[in-house]
Amino acid sequence: MIIVLKQGVSQQKIEELSAHLESKGVKVNTWFGTSKTVLGLIGDTSGIDIESIAAQDIVETVKRVQEPYKKANRKFHPDNSVIKINENAVIGDGSIAIIAGPCSVENKEQICAVAQKVKASGATFLRGGAFKPRTSPYTFQGLRAEGIELLIEARKMTGLPIVTEIMSPTHLDQFEEVDIIQVGARNMQNFELLKELGRIKKPILLKRGLANTIEEFLMSAEYIMSGGNEQVILCERGIRTFETYTRNTLDISAVPILKRLSHLPVVVDPSHASGIPWLVEPLSLAAVAAGADGLIIEVHNDPQKALSDGAQSLTPDAFDKIAKSIFSLKKALGS
Ligand code: PEP
Ligand code: MN
Repeated sequence: MIIVLKQGVSQQKIEELSAHLESKGVKVNTWFGTSKTVLGLIGDTSGIDIESIAAQDIVETVKRVQEPYKKANRKFHPDNSVIKINENAVIGDGSIAIIAGPCSVENKEQICAVAQKVKASGATFLRGGAFKPRTSPYTFQGLRAEGIELLIEARKMTGLPIVTEIMSPTHLDQFEEVDIIQVGARNMQNFELLKELGRIKKPILLKRGLANTIEEFLMSAEYIMSGGNEQVILCERGIRTFETYTRNTLDISAVPILKRLSHLPVVVDPSHASGIPWLVEPLSLAAVAAGADGLIIEVHNDPQKALSDGAQSLTPDAFDKIAKSIFSLKKALGS
């Protein structure tokens, strides 16, 4: 349920109404906008008499919210949420953020070389997997803690904040220095992991599961947010369909749908969505045109020798060209 208050209601009146509602066993989420205040009620609202609330003189409207996600719902938080790591690294403020880097961190030379290149091309975050979810147990599993150390070195060298994937809540203490923790597609419904991430105060890049609906995706964001961590970035990375030409099928309509249903920033991963380097540019442009807040793109200094996802990785030169067209489209759109 959401309660929209009339303009100019005093803080004391808001607190009185919130206390009354909380005495009925619900949690009240208060959003202060420039022209209105919205109280979002979370929990069992069956004990609340909608008519008597609507009749109060400070209340403008009361609406039931049908969707099961509340904190992630735009009705509870009409403004866009913005994730800010520093002045140069912001997601959701109307700019286009680019997170770029290799699928896996392989060694110091590799991650530092890629970091410097993508920074020069305009990327604002560095990605790199340290704990890798691989289909086969016989393939490279990532450098784990050492991979995170190397990302930290690359950050020292370039200033780029680092984004890396977590696979288990038992590894959380190794992510203290990480700027944005990624939850990969395979873990989108690892609810115990999501609950742990709800207890920390770090932005989470949540990837859509391989075969999950938009509502399931938002419910996973809700798991993190309901624990108290509201800094969630949604990532559309392609879904499983009958098509085999591409690695996955980019669900481009998920971008405007998520932006409509939720206030959370939305980024697109054209690398995992397509699995094909030449598709990264058109899919990136489509994502920007559809309203994405950012892109996450795999770049490797020597894709042919990459220990994971080399086939879909761009060279730094190819990335540079694509970054230029992304920024010029964004400029042309005037948004
Ligand atoms: C990745 O970002 O390297 C990755 C494993 O992505 P996804 O979880 O989307 O497959
Ligand atoms: Mn990858």
